[in-house]
Amino acid sequence: MPELPEVETARRGIEPHVGGRTLTGAVVRDPRLRWPVPPDLDAQLAGRRVASLTRRGKYILADLGDTHLLIHLGMSGSLSVVSADTPPRKHDHVDILLGDGRALRLHDPRRFGAVLLVPGLPEHHPLLRELGPEPLDPSWSGEALWQATRGRTAAIKTVIMDAHTVVGVGNIYASEALFRAGIRPGTAARRLTRPACARLVASIRETLQEALAAGGSSLRDYVQANGDLGCFQLEHRVYGRDGQPCVTCGTEIRMARMGQRSTFWCPVCQH
Ligand SMILES: [Zn+2]
Repeated sequence: MPELPEVETARRGIEPHVGGRTLTGAVVRDPRLRWPVPPDLDAQLAGRRVASLTRRGKYILADLGDTHLLIHLGMSGSLSVVSADTPPRKHDHVDILLGDGRALRLHDPRRFGAVLLVPGLPEHHPLLRELGPEPLDPSWSGEALWQATRGRTAAIKTVIMDAHTVVGVGNIYASEALFRAGIRPGTAARRLTRPACARLVASIRETLQEALAAGGSSLRDYVQANGDLGCFQLEHRVYGRDGQPCVTCGTEIRMARMGQRSTFWCPVCQH
């Protein structure tokens, strides 16, 4: 599933080709995504200029003036910039026509993605208004996490994966960041001290930044017939390494299900 670093890399990859362009419409081959693609998408996009391409959580937002085009990659979506006459592959459900003979093409085999029009301020939209802080935004701090975790008895791993706390921390990144911060994933969130919260915020940022750096080398892949990137190969220190020695102390990495997600930790380094 595309996580925040993959979505941000997709945004950076398509931005030079989409930003500033005046769209000429859309081709919708299958509107049955997670929510139906608006039936009038083609007419709504024609003649609108993309002022900017931003991201909020895992949503990509094209600013079209009084409306935004919202794109979500769901479980399996990918974006690429192709010549508009490139024959569509199976699952190439939507083309956004860029007015220069090219198209931004959404490929989404599982159809959990979304292409929607959001009138007015996007931060008021039901999909966006409940979202917590951006992890890479410098204004998110250890103090903010400490405040957000007071009174919360749930496991800290579950809490940092909750988009109300902070957006974009998926399962792999949560396990890796908790290892780097030396915090056991099952610890009740309210028991974290201020210094522990500061370490965790720094570790989450570091983990996401490393994944972004890994994705940077793949930016050119957005301008070809196949924009699939898969997930970035971070060097995992705990994730998927149960039974193998901890990279720091050699103790066997443990695994348990937590909130129905596989969770990995070192019983010695994390407490
Ligand atoms: Zn260890």
